[in-house]
Amino acid sequence: MFIKQPSGQILLMVEGYTMSKYYTSSDGSQIQWRCSCWKSKNCRVSVYTTPEGVVNYLKGQHSRTAPAYHITKEGKYVSVTFIPSGAWTIS
Ligand SMILES: [Zn+2]
Repeated sequence: MFIKQPSGQILLMVEGYTMSKYYTSSDGSQIQWRCSCWKSKNCRVSVYTTPEGVVNYLKGQHSRTAPAYHITKEGKYVSVTFIPSGAWTIS
């Protein structure tokens, strides 16, 4: 599932974790994503997907439990743990 932030950045959500795009292979067939807590929580999880967002494989283990997300009535994702003011929209 993709999530589009107000800034226009696309995130990938896998099992409740958000991933930011890190690398696209030269032929465009594979995209690597890194966990959003890569820097802040020293989490070393990367996910490889097709351009459509189908997960090929997941590497590593998260250093924290999945953040709690609420979906508001307007269909926005709001993280209640690490982006208190963030209103996230579905792409
Ligand atoms: Zn993580």
